[in-house]
Amino acid sequence: MSTMATSVRMNELSSIVGEQYVVEAPQKLKDLTIDGVTPAIAVTPGSVEEVAAVLRYAYEHDLNVVPAGGFVHQEIGNIPTAVDLLLRTERLTGIEHYDPGDLTIGVGAGVTISELQSLVRDQGQVFPIDIANADRVTIGGAMAVAASGPHRHFFGGLRDFCLGVRFVTAEGKAAKGGGRVVKNVAGFDLMKLMIGSYGTLAVITSASFKLFPHPVATRTFVCEFASLNEAIEFRDFVMASPLSPICLELLSPKASVGGTWTIAVRAGGSDRVLARYGSELGSAVTAAFDGSPEHTFWDRVEKLGNESPVKVAVSVPPNSGGEVIGTMERLAGENHLELQAWGRIGVGFLLMALNGGMAENYVGCIRELRKSLPRDASTVVMRCPVSLKPEISVWGTSPNNMDAMMAAKRALSPKDNLNRGRFLL
Ligand SMILES: Cc1cc2nc3c(=O)[nH]c(=O)nc-3n(C[C@H](O)[C@H](O)[C@H](O)COP(=O)(O)OP(=O)(O)OC[C@H]3O[C@@H](n4cnc5c(N)ncnc54)[C@H](O)[C@@H]3O)c2cc1C
Repeated sequence: MSTMATSVRMNELSSIVGEQYVVEAPQKLKDLTIDGVTPAIAVTPGSVEEVAAVLRYAYEHDLNVVPAGGFVHQEIGNIPTAVDLLLRTERLTGIEHYDPGDLTIGVGAGVTISELQSLVRDQGQVFPIDIANADRVTIGGAMAVAASGPHRHFFGGLRDFCLGVRFVTAEGKAAKGGGRVVKNVAGFDLMKLMIGSYGTLAVITSASFKLFPHPVATRTFVCEFASLNEAIEFRDFVMASPLSPICLELLSPKASVGGTWTIAVRAGGSDRVLARYGSELGSAVTAAFDGSPEHTFWDRVEKLGNESPVKVAVSVPPNSGGEVIGTMERLAGENHLELQAWGRIGVGFLLMALNGGMAENYVGCIRELRKSLPRDASTVVMRCPVSLKPEISVWGTSPNNMDAMMAAKRALSPKDNLNRGRFLL
């Protein structure tokens, strides 16, 4: 964009949101670079009306808009074709409603996960998204990438406890999904469509959620095994038992503290319930934590792989999880890579971090993994060096529902000017 064009845009955008909320100075924008592409302008609207006006302006001028929350994982996706306008949500921080008696809350997209968690914790309630950098990850960013952590085993993902969402379409139309309004013209559940849309369909401006009562107490039982097979047998035993843990996390030897195949079982309830877990889990338990050591344990799990050059999320049918990790261990060895694997082994959501290799090792390993996976599995490369992105298909193969996705995109972002080029379509 020419300097003149930028300064005209600065003036026009300033008239919408106020001068102090529009930035075009390159030195101020360099921390907001995405895969080496620096935004031409960053704009921070303070209300839904301002988001709508900014998007209308961008639509009319065919500007590619990248929505941004805490900027924790803007590296997810393909390299952006251009970032004409970075639309920041940090001023969308209102609490729309909180009804502790009804266990529901609605907050602006710029509220961080930890702000929301601490607000509801004061009322003895839980918002169960346990992910790293919770003090920076925003509700909008978490919704856009369908974020989840180990609590997903019991509470499900955002799709399971999000009640409604408000958003602004690429053309600048404010809309909502969920609650009493669940269908749009294309016949989709708009709320679910927004979760995992990676900022390509609309800018999420707020969302409301179901909350859960905080357990009286929690305890984590660490269970260690000599082999992956034994760990999977134990997973099957827990799944078939009357126990209903909050988390059931498998850690490969390189991901665990003790260097063994580990299953961490986190339980919630009264002292009597926790004691029952201890006796049911039996001799597999090698350590049990509560209080601050328990917090430290899960904090470490949430941060696993955050320093690795390549991090991959694999979704598989739950019964295939053990086999997939076994295959990945073999492929990592053949490609001279160190593998840390961990994840929600009860629901089939696995994470893998690869370290210590050359570009061709990473590419080869991921390609072979994809070939070996069951048909209904997906592999998303959450992070890799920018130079590898053209080599590794970040999103993997096209999903079966591509036609439906195209229809949704045509309806909500007809010019494809939201996060253009970064997602599947
Ligand atoms: C498959 C997968 C699994 C993951 N699992 C884990 C995990 O187990 N543990 C963990 O710690 N993290 C995990 N993450 C990463 C985590 O979800 C991100 O850290 C978090 O969502 C980033 O939030 P943010 O506010 O910093 O958003 P940003 O990093 O700013 O943006 C992230 C994406 O969301 C879009 N976006 C941001 N705000 C909005 C909005 N208001 N409206 C529309 N789009 C918006 C952006 O354009 C961008 O595409 C996972 C991510 C993926 C893709």
